[in-house]
Amino acid sequence: MAAINLSLTDEQRALKAGVTEICKRYPGEYWRDLDSRREYPEKFVNELTQAGYLACLIPPEYGGAGLGMPEGGMILETIHANGGSASACHAQMYIMGTVLRHGSDAQKQRSLPKIASGELRLQAFGVTEPDAGSDTLQLKTTAVRKGDRYVVNGRKMFISRAMQTDLMLLLARTTPADQVKRRTDGLSVFLIDIRSIKGLEIRPLKMMMNHSTNALFFDDMEIPADTLVGEEGKGFQYILSGMNAERILVASESIGDGRWFTEKSVAYSGQRVIFGRPIGANQGVQFPIARAYANVEAAALMRDKAAALFEAGEPCGAEANMAKLLAAEAAWEAGNACIDCHGGYGYAEEYDVERKFRECRLYKTAPVNNNLVLAYVGEHVLGMPRSY
Ligand SMILES: Cc1cc2nc3c(=O)[nH]c(=O)nc-3n(C[C@H](O)[C@H](O)[C@H](O)COP(=O)(O)OP(=O)(O)OC[C@H]3O[C@@H](n4cnc5c(N)ncnc54)[C@H](O)[C@@H]3O)c2cc1C
Repeated sequence: MAAINLSLTDEQRALKAGVTEICKRYPGEYWRDLDSRREYPEKFVNELTQAGYLACLIPPEYGGAGLGMPEGGMILETIHANGGSASACHAQMYIMGTVLRHGSDAQKQRSLPKIASGELRLQAFGVTEPDAGSDTLQLKTTAVRKGDRYVVNGRKMFISRAMQTDLMLLLARTTPADQVKRRTDGLSVFLIDIRSIKGLEIRPLKMMMNHSTNALFFDDMEIPADTLVGEEGKGFQYILSGMNAERILVASESIGDGRWFTEKSVAYSGQRVIFGRPIGANQGVQFPIARAYANVEAAALMRDKAAALFEAGEPCGAEANMAKLLAAEAAWEAGNACIDCHGGYGYAEEYDVERKFRECRLYKTAPVNNNLVLAYVGEHVLGMPRSY
């Protein structure tokens, strides 16, 4: 039965302390410097991988720690609460779930132990396309079977970490849309090794924050047929089954951001004296911080509920989606209050507030836009008419 634990176990406390210890070695200056050069946090990701944190959800038989969703969320939240960004490596935690649940024994044996040890990175997830966006079922990239291979043609947009990964999970159409029984059929998932693959062009995109994201172009890219995960045509269902984990983990990052902003706001508004008293003594400064804090705490409870249900194998789509929505909004609100309370210094790079503000904004948009989360809640939780 699912149960939310309101206090941490000794093991969870140790886990949090271990991640915090690593984060302390990567202070604001580290992230700020990479941000200014738009460079990938190689050193941080390598240390996190070597310490086994990115393999926390991989079962022990494949070399991982075999921990649960609450612990996965705790690791990502801790990184963000310490001023860092797990967006450089979080996908590894949720992408591998598709392989674990739907991959063949050979695929799991081939990839999971090496992912757990850090020998291979599985950091890229190729879904979004320029002409499909939130409407994944409209995706146009095709994978056509030719003997023992598939030939891939098409384009993907905003595919993060394609330059830093070894493996990519790719969603492509294997049956034309007008030949499928159900709208959700005809898409397939492939686990492919993109190191030195022919027919793939990766073009980095300049974004608002340091997030290694890219446009991908497939031109007769050949991939072995045994890279197909599970059954041909069932890819959309496989991807959906991993989305709750993705929502819970991303919500955890937002909660960490919210906690970081709150701590910064409280510290700064306590020591900044204007008109003869700390600015935090003014309700106009204090209340937005307190309100945002309350919303971060509420989002954390929803995240904990979603993670507990996930762990117990119970349905958690509603809770995972609501956690992602509430956490992204709360982090943004906490960031806004933090900028306000810092006055002009909120815009100065050396305070890290503007960087975190830019970074936290993403989770209102990706991996799924909050509008689409509301559409899910309206239709699937409240039974209202489909709005799109
Ligand atoms: C930095 C970054 C990294 C990303 N990384 C990845 C990645 O690694 N892999 C990957 O596959 N994708 C990735 N994405 C893509 C991301 O998941 C998409 O941007 C997102 O799903 C929305 O798609 P879109 O940008 O095409 O927006 P659109 O679908 O074009 O939507 C635009 C706006 O219209 C709204 N809208 C559209 N339809 C409706 C409707 N019916 N009702 C209400 N509102 C609606 C949306 O909510 C949104 O506000 C990334 C995006 C960014 C910005």
